[in-house]
Amino acid sequence: MTLDVTDLRISLPRLIERIEALGNVGRVDGPKGEWGCARLALTDADRDGRDLVTTWMADLGLEVTIDGVGNAVATYAGSDPSMAPVMTGSHIDTVRTGGRFDGNLGVLGGLEVVETLARAGVRPRRAIQVAFFTDEEGSRFHPDMLGSLVYVGGLALEEALDMRAHDNDARLGDELARIGYAGSMPCPAATFPHAYIELHIEQGPVLEAEGITIGAVTGVQGIYWNEFTITGQSAHAGTTPMRMRKDPMVVAAQITTEARAIATRLGGAQVATVGRLDVFPDLTNVVPARVTFTTDMRNTDGLKLDEADQAIKAFAARMAADEGCEMTMTPLAHFEPVEFNPLMIDLVEATSKRLGYSVRRMPSGAGHDAQMLARVCPTAMIFVPSINGLSHNIAEDTAPSDLEAGANVLLQTLLHLAS
Ligand SMILES: [Zn+2]
Repeated sequence: MTLDVTDLRISLPRLIERIEALGNVGRVDGPKGEWGCARLALTDADRDGRDLVTTWMADLGLEVTIDGVGNAVATYAGSDPSMAPVMTGSHIDTVRTGGRFDGNLGVLGGLEVVETLARAGVRPRRAIQVAFFTDEEGSRFHPDMLGSLVYVGGLALEEALDMRAHDNDARLGDELARIGYAGSMPCPAATFPHAYIELHIEQGPVLEAEGITIGAVTGVQGIYWNEFTITGQSAHAGTTPMRMRKDPMVVAAQITTEARAIATRLGGAQVATVGRLDVFPDLTNVVPARVTFTTDMRNTDGLKLDEADQAIKAFAARMAADEGCEMTMTPLAHFEPVEFNPLMIDLVEATSKRLGYSVRRMPSGAGHDAQMLARVCPTAMIFVPSINGLSHNIAEDTAPSDLEAGANVLLQTLLHLAS
């Protein structure tokens, strides 16, 4: 009797064992038994995590290559070497208060898929590659998703290697060499995969709230980050008549309220947040001299997002002028929305249904390596629920049954793409 590969399933205990072992590298314990990890890009902890994962890759008999920016790619050979490989992966760097699942699940889920295939003696036509990309979180080096951006040719390698760490000003290229991950494979890659599929936790509350197991991710929201500084006239809070004030705090408050009004007016997927506010001199009885704050605006619709960005900047300039204040604006980040490949989204959805899992289509609110890979090959993502929607938090968690479901959808999606 021949094996029907559509019946293959991953091993949950093996997947969890690897997630916990990697989580123990740079482990951070919380007061209530919750635990996560801190493996900032290109630190000693990141090196230890990389060493562990590449050892697992080699133990599975995979060929492991490291490229010029430290991205690691492990290859499970296919039966037809002339065909381009199918790639899965994610990142294993974390933020300072990171969880065990963000990024790590995508890499270890990929390894679990390969181990499942190897143990069953299944060799698809196309090779299957499992990758982890350098500095996805951007916690030490700007920009985030740096490794995958360089991999697809969106940022020159030399420019990336010259980036400086926020914490100790170390040069990225020197840090790579220091931890032993300045590899020799060309970056950007000489050839790109046939397709890329990434398993990731949702990092938000939607799937859990709706009781749905799998998110078939349709794309990644576009984003604008701007920093505004409003400068007025510092004055005594008791003696200065209202009509004589130039109060930057009032302007900042008006802009904050307008950010929400713009999001409400545009509707759809538009969100807007003022998340940072610095007031100088920050005293109870003083009209502030200066207020600096940021706006974070996101939308899956690029035209509406541009409209939101224009609207908030025009409103801010008008309010500052009305109050007699000076305004400066610095753009901090801008990424266009990314739409994943429709056939790949269909495949994730159909595979989830075939395996008996509830599934919904959804955009990603956070950035991922997949949005970079989408520039060079058909790409999609598989989301699994985050308990309480928590992420970038050591309490980040996902139910074991959801980890299993996500990894099985990854397995069957990869098998389909590789055959
Ligand atoms: Zn991530």
